[in-house]
Amino acid sequence: MMTTTFTKKTLGLETVEPAVTPPPTTAAEPSFVKKPKLGGGKSKKRDIPEGLWVKCKKCGNLVYDKELDETLKVCPRCQYHFQIGPRDRVLSLVEPGSFEEMDANLVSVDILGFAGMASYVSKLADNQKKTGEKDAVLTGVGMIGEHKVALGIMDFSFIGGSMGSVVGEKITRLIERGTAEELPVIVISTSGGARMYEGMFSLMQMAKTCGALAYLAEARLPYISVLTHNTYAGVMASFASVGDLILAEPGAEIGFAGARVIKDTTQAELPPGFQTAEFLLDHGLIDAVIHRKDLKKQLIEYLDFLTARFRPAPPTT
Ligand SMILES: [Zn+2]
Repeated sequence: MMTTTFTKKTLGLETVEPAVTPPPTTAAEPSFVKKPKLGGGKSKKRDIPEGLWVKCKKCGNLVYDKELDETLKVCPRCQYHFQIGPRDRVLSLVEPGSFEEMDANLVSVDILGFAGMASYVSKLADNQKKTGEKDAVLTGVGMIGEHKVALGIMDFSFIGGSMGSVVGEKITRLIERGTAEELPVIVISTSGGARMYEGMFSLMQMAKTCGALAYLAEARLPYISVLTHNTYAGVMASFASVGDLILAEPGAEIGFAGARVIKDTTQAELPPGFQTAEFLLDHGLIDAVIHRKDLKKQLIEYLDFLTARFRPAPPTT
């Protein structure tokens, strides 16, 4: 049996003695007070490098990092779709060696001289260092199957995938190139919304990108929008929601304002699954929910259909 050498414990009412503090260490110290020696242990756990295991946000299981690389960052147990970087996405969709990046060196300017908890300039520098990217979208042209496409992929890890002037400009130039070269345009979105560090200039990107899409539509060229976890606010309220086809990944959360804000504002109970891809598919906003491993195959199928008029007519006999 475990015994202690100090018996007085306060229950909050016995004010004569101060709150119990364990006495200085003695040989008779109870075992539960002993602390393990730091650095002296030979635990094998310490030999495992950090970052090899990732905890799944949905099922809570630990997933081996390498396994996630093989599954395109989808949990093998519950199929939760982790966010995936834009360059990994290119590898998963575009034919090897065919991707030609556009506007790689476009960088944002701190036009407002924004200074809050951190200045916008330092925020940009930190995110550029962290991600190795200049801003929150990667754009270029490449081959998906036999289709040459203009492809834009947003990056949530760069200031929450927010859309400032660089994101808006790169997406606009991508759409304009698609229009000029008669290419289908595909944008894979993930974003927290407009980048408020750029104030009004970030909001202007909503109109600018949609203006470019109007010219693409006038040229009768297809635009496919792919929504991934999560796509919100200014991006969802502009180019992400106006695709000829709107696809989404399973479980992706999509909307204008977040569920908590809507709940607080309306004081109403929200239906189950509110703002998920599956809910929006049921309610007609999204055309298909597609597992990441099937996205390339499905895109090729849709592109075959949408670009049929560009193919030469079969010879008549
Ligand atoms: Zn899982």
